[in-house]
Amino acid sequence: MVTVNKNYLKLQESYLFSNIAKKVGAFCEAHPGEKIIRLGIGDVTQPLAPVIIDSLHKAVDEMAHAETFHGYAPDLGYEFLRNAIVRHDYQSRGCQIEADEIFISDGAKSDSGNIQEIFGLDNKVAVCDPVYPVYVDTNVMAGRSGSYCEKNENFHGIIYMPCREENGFLPEFPKEVPDLIYLCFPNNPTGSAITKPELQKWVDYANLNGAVIIYDAAYEAYISEEGIPHSIFECEGARTCAIELRSFSKNAGFTGVRLGFTVISKELVRDGVRLHDLWARRHGTKFNGAPYIVQRAGEAVYSLEGQIQLKEQIAAYMRNARVIYEGLKEAGYAVYGGVNAPYIWLKTPDSMTSWEFFDYLLEKAKVVGTPGSGFGAHGEGYFRLTAFGSYEDTKEAIDRISRL
Ligand code: PLP
Repeated sequence: MVTVNKNYLKLQESYLFSNIAKKVGAFCEAHPGEKIIRLGIGDVTQPLAPVIIDSLHKAVDEMAHAETFHGYAPDLGYEFLRNAIVRHDYQSRGCQIEADEIFISDGAKSDSGNIQEIFGLDNKVAVCDPVYPVYVDTNVMAGRSGSYCEKNENFHGIIYMPCREENGFLPEFPKEVPDLIYLCFPNNPTGSAITKPELQKWVDYANLNGAVIIYDAAYEAYISEEGIPHSIFECEGARTCAIELRSFSKNAGFTGVRLGFTVISKELVRDGVRLHDLWARRHGTKFNGAPYIVQRAGEAVYSLEGQIQLKEQIAAYMRNARVIYEGLKEAGYAVYGGVNAPYIWLKTPDSMTSWEFFDYLLEKAKVVGTPGSGFGAHGEGYFRLTAFGSYEDTKEAIDRISRL
């Protein structure tokens, strides 16, 4: 008799985005012709930069000729891309990372979901609350949690580190020492960033306790302030305790193209084993590489032209972030994030729950955002707006909210 992985049955139905779609659909039906502005999505909206399009076209043409055709990519990814990453993202920031410590992938969602496979099931996992749900759900699927607790709206056996206004939306060391610590900065959904001294404390803590930090830096390109690390490897000792995840989705608009990478130093050893070697084995066995065409497009991201064009794209999103942040602040809202991240996290007014505020905003301003409670129990009472819309829509949305 076939049995199934019962851990999957512990997962909660992901109601968040289907609920939003349902509510918006019902509203549109009841109010035909009304213009709804969507500031809820975490997907980019600007087209790929010209330098990336050129690179894609060129690589496609190469595939048409036997002499320049490319089949399977090398296991870790093409050297031209890994070298560009090392030079631009690491060595230029004084981080000691080598090209053979970079693993090219199809994005940070798969890497953040798959990385747990190289760890034993007896490891204790710690996550921030609110949290990007992939970290939790993939550990639940693997069997690293108990059942779901309806009362606390979280899983038994997972350590949740509340990130709220009181602690500047930064996690504190939990009472129970974890083995695997997921950190994401700049953060989705709160938009908070961590300073280098604060991150250094986590690196020291992990080294002291033999823990491993899985550091998701998918939004590093949005950092605008000095003193905010772009990589955990800027911290002393990170090579012996951290794994970093990066994505081309938000810095270069690759959400539909798919490219990312994981960095594991050869000095990261646990249980007597180099984690680099385990991930290399896992990568080689279960993944056949990101497409050549896409890796060439990724290389273009690091060209001088690419850097200039992408800076403009990010500046446009961050202009929206400022419109949201300043507009809401002026309207009397308590707002956070939006300075080093494309996410603005606001406190719902008048003690409304996240979903009450969602309904209120949809009904009164015809603006769609994301209820904070969808990201975890400690997201309750908060609401996420994103800077990924057009400038005109963003401005109109904030004007509407301000007039309420
Ligand atoms: N990590 C975080 C924190 C994210 O918010 C997202 C996407 O929204 C991802 C990873 C996924 O990135 P990718 O498109 O590279 O899979």
